[in-house]
Amino acid sequence: MRARARAAAVGLLALSWSEARAGAPPGSLRALALDGSGGAVDPATSFASIERTPPADVEAFAADPDALRFVVVGERGSLPSVVSVVTTRADGGPLDALAALPVLPTPCPAGTAPADACVSTAPVRAVADDVDRDHPLARERSVRAEVGGALALAAFGRELLSFAVGGPRTSPAGPIGRLRGRLRVHVVRDYAKGPPPFGADDAAALALAESQVAWTNAVWGQCGVRFVVEPAVRLVDPPPPHLLALGCDLGLPASGGEVRVVVEGKPVRAVLRAGQSPRVAARVVARAIEAAGFVARVSENARIDPGALGSADVLVRRRDGALATIEPPDGGRVSTDATLSACIGGVDLRDGLDHFTDADAAAGTVEERTLIKAFDDGDPRTLDVVLMAAFAGGGRIGESFIVADRSSIRNVVLSDRGGVRADRASFALAHELGHILLDMPGHPDDFGVDTPTRLMDADAADPSAFGPRRLTLDECARMVHEAGPEATVPLLVPWPLAPARAGVSAR
Ligand SMILES: [Zn+2]
Repeated sequence: MRARARAAAVGLLALSWSEARAGAPPGSLRALALDGSGGAVDPATSFASIERTPPADVEAFAADPDALRFVVVGERGSLPSVVSVVTTRADGGPLDALAALPVLPTPCPAGTAPADACVSTAPVRAVADDVDRDHPLARERSVRAEVGGALALAAFGRELLSFAVGGPRTSPAGPIGRLRGRLRVHVVRDYAKGPPPFGADDAAALALAESQVAWTNAVWGQCGVRFVVEPAVRLVDPPPPHLLALGCDLGLPASGGEVRVVVEGKPVRAVLRAGQSPRVAARVVARAIEAAGFVARVSENARIDPGALGSADVLVRRRDGALATIEPPDGGRVSTDATLSACIGGVDLRDGLDHFTDADAAAGTVEERTLIKAFDDGDPRTLDVVLMAAFAGGGRIGESFIVADRSSIRNVVLSDRGGVRADRASFALAHELGHILLDMPGHPDDFGVDTPTRLMDADAADPSAFGPRRLTLDECARMVHEAGPEATVPLLVPWPLAPARAGVSAR
């Protein structure tokens, strides 16, 4: 309904412009944009920014780094009483409009000709979504905008000024125009050929996943980030038991024994010698599996806090590239070694996904590793998003695997249907991606003041404009440092903004 209502508003705007054009006075009008500090913002070198402060009255403008006030300069008697602010999407399509924004007389800026007079708008907020735009505190001067799109000012049907929309105009890391991140999104069924984890059918599940990405882009636009999903969102079966964990969790060294498994119906046996670490044992087992005609890759895990050594996973595929199925031997344990255990990783989301605790956050559980490593593309610069039914035990809706945890799995976000359902009350996907982009395992409220309007707040849930959705300039700067183009692993790459005038016309 909202989209329909806005389309009507844009249509009315076009009408009012053409009517106004007929009676447009002669003379030349020009316009400029001022920020909260009173400084002019040049559309040739800067941009409009997505609002990062909760709705507030006009007096808060001085402390608002994002809003812009527009001043129209012209001969006395030629000035408009209302102006329009029109925004377009990154693809050039119409997004939103303030069709009749009132202006009031204002002192002219220095350098204005004596014959000229000036009018000004209230500070205009370029906001991420309809929740922010429709808040009563700033409804009449808020307009939706998106990074990569444009924001234009017009009077009497003529465009006077146009800005590209980007990230912060200033931050501790300098201006942030636009950065591009790549997401791979996997929506996982509860079991093979089972129902999707959310939504009434497959199409609804894909649409819900795409809307999560759209809201994530809306929020991260505050830092100039735009995520591109590539390839398109996929709905997939959970992987078969393709992973064999040597040392399971605790990573004790071997005391001598045997590992026996059945891979795609073929028995495989590997001998472990006393003193071998899980990493060495994994290589021994991988060689035995390869000798049986499969492709085996060793993936080492970080040592978890209570562990002796890091465990190591053997990931097995068939020669045709499909994930192989590993089973225990008939009548016996997988490992006969008294100390070095071996576990076959299986994923069954009907009982919820076993999730990590603080103790095993560095490695993730065997079930998590089986799920995540099945989708790994080997490129550390992509962000993998796995959306599935639920975590076991309840209470958790999302988790992320980040570098600061010394995790063997990096740059992966898991979110469940609770996160999808909480939607814009929690922005679960945007929040979990925040842990990765900021390389920050904790939350600002763990030690500091509780600010429930911040995206990275630990537990806020509020669907209003005062919910957990704001990113600070310091957070944007930290993001550039930890994940930007100069970072060790650049998750975000420069994506120059197109010239401001592109895509904006009077329709
Ligand atoms: Zn968190």
